[in-house]
Amino acid sequence: MLNGKSALVTGASRGIGREIALELARQGANVAINYSGSEDRAQSVVEEVEALGVKSCKIQADVASEQETKAMVKEVVNAFGSLDILVNNAGINRDNLLMRMKEDEFDQVINTNLKGVFQCTKAVSRQMMKQKAGRIVNVSSVVGVSGNAGQANYTAAKAGVIGLTKTTAKEFASRNIRVNAVAPGFISTEMTDALTDEQKDGMLSLIPLEKLGEPEDVARTVRFLASDDANYITGQTIHIDGGMVM
Ligand code: NAD
Repeated sequence: MLNGKSALVTGASRGIGREIALELARQGANVAINYSGSEDRAQSVVEEVEALGVKSCKIQADVASEQETKAMVKEVVNAFGSLDILVNNAGINRDNLLMRMKEDEFDQVINTNLKGVFQCTKAVSRQMMKQKAGRIVNVSSVVGVSGNAGQANYTAAKAGVIGLTKTTAKEFASRNIRVNAVAPGFISTEMTDALTDEQKDGMLSLIPLEKLGEPEDVARTVRFLASDDANYITGQTIHIDGGMVM
């Protein structure tokens, strides 16, 4: 499905990003693993990707930094010769009720989750325009559509990602670059491990399919949007949430 394509997945050393990297590799893409935390974990994803018979490399970069994202894209193109797929997956949360939320908690989340998508998209745009082809998939969240108490910073950033997706899709369409978003609901990862059992049960009661999502559920949808099967789809946001937000 993706033979000969090159992909960059941000925040790919664990969780949903790791699973997206592996899914793209299973379909034949070479995959660059961006990370900001543990180098060992990024290295183990590189080895898992290579074991699938494609090329991989790891690149440390803060997605919110213009300088670091520019250098990262250069490194990917040097390693693979092209950059066909960008998945903006890196994200953090710093939850707090709005009245208690510190300015720093707001800024950190907006910087990583929204500005990070802007920086990485801008960094790949010249290369994709030169190639006259590209696919960008942004990881938003259903709470960017529905809102969620305690997540003013996160929901604002994820709603912003949906707007950014639509605008970029319009600006890049004439260059054959498609831009879409996925909006996961409640997916079991280290990010959601931090929730209490009570919070998890509360979430479960809101999901019509009566189960939590897995990283694979997100990865398969990202793979579809990054493939030629989605050739006539751009500017869209697909919810992967068991029916939680309709
Ligand atoms: P996670 O915390 O396991 O993974 C996030 C990754 O992003 C980590 O590897 C982290 O090191 C990386 N990262 C953080 N800041 C970064 C930065 N500045 N530069 C580069 N990398 C950075 O979380 P996850 O659950 O796998 O989430 C992945 C994405 O999916 C996030 O954007 C998250 O908001 C979104 N999402 C998750 C859920 C869920 O239920 N897990 C639901 C909706 C959306």
